[in-house]
Amino acid sequence: MENLLKRKLKLGIAACQFGSKVRYNGKGIDLTQYLGRDRGQFIWTPVCPEVMSGMGVPRPSIKLSGGNGFDFWEGRANIKNKEGQNRNEMIKKGALACLETLERAEIDAYIFMEGSPSCGVYRTSLKNQRLGNPPGVFGALLLQKNVFLISSIDLQSPVRWWDWKRRLVAFVWIKEQTVNSKEILKDIWDKVKYVLYELHEEEGTHIRDEVREILKSEEEASPETYEKITLEILNLLRKPAELENIKKHLWENYVDLKKKNGIEVSEIYEPNILRNMTHIAQELLGIEIEVRKINGFFRSSPINYKPER
Ligand code: SF4
Repeated sequence: MENLLKRKLKLGIAACQFGSKVRYNGKGIDLTQYLGRDRGQFIWTPVCPEVMSGMGVPRPSIKLSGGNGFDFWEGRANIKNKEGQNRNEMIKKGALACLETLERAEIDAYIFMEGSPSCGVYRTSLKNQRLGNPPGVFGALLLQKNVFLISSIDLQSPVRWWDWKRRLVAFVWIKEQTVNSKEILKDIWDKVKYVLYELHEEEGTHIRDEVREILKSEEEASPETYEKITLEILNLLRKPAELENIKKHLWENYVDLKKKNGIEVSEIYEPNILRNMTHIAQELLGIEIEVRKINGFFRSSPINYKPER
């Protein structure tokens, strides 16, 4: 199997993070501007559950009370606006309309705005570092649907974005394989194992032991077993990497490439050398470019994403 993904990935995004001035106070910001040329490598579907609810812009801010977004869908929590009006029905319709749009668009991932009672996933408040009642109403729907979720804040960090992109590309590439034989499982494992160890050594090692168990058996495993192991790999790919691990593996993988493929990239530093996020991202991208030129294999970013126009 070639480690290549040619399909242009589709990303849903909170509209207020895509430059639409749809927040309750009429504000919005375009965080995709930080992606530079990467912006054109995706098809975007911006949505806003609060606008789709019919509450308009500007509008009184809303609050989730009595529980989190899951509780809301179970009828145990409420959405009220600052004026005390109940907005349960409106926000339900808005969130479902957005979900329907994202499903129709067949998105591969969704970029959410953290801190909103509608869109937040890990916090629903932006005040004083409080978490609020996460997830929000729309966030809960996205979690229930097992969508690959990316926090919009990470679009501003070149390293964080690089980490999301390489994991998402690997995630989609695996999802598009039919894993029904030991041969295919081995092929996938050999390509993504280094990233998995980098994301979480313990979990990566656990999956490795399971893969080995399957591979050493004389028989083919059951479809359920292949499904389970594939899901474990996919779930680990959702986890952001620690910066320290990114730096460590960047260096180790570069040294390996230099030795085996003679790849030379200027200004690649050992993990203990202090440098800013932009520099680290440049190092990673520099290696990626050189590796792709020779059709080589970069363990940190194993799947080559070359979207067709
Ligand atoms: S509902 Fe979501 S997309 Fe709409 S303004 Fe709030 S955070 Fe942004």
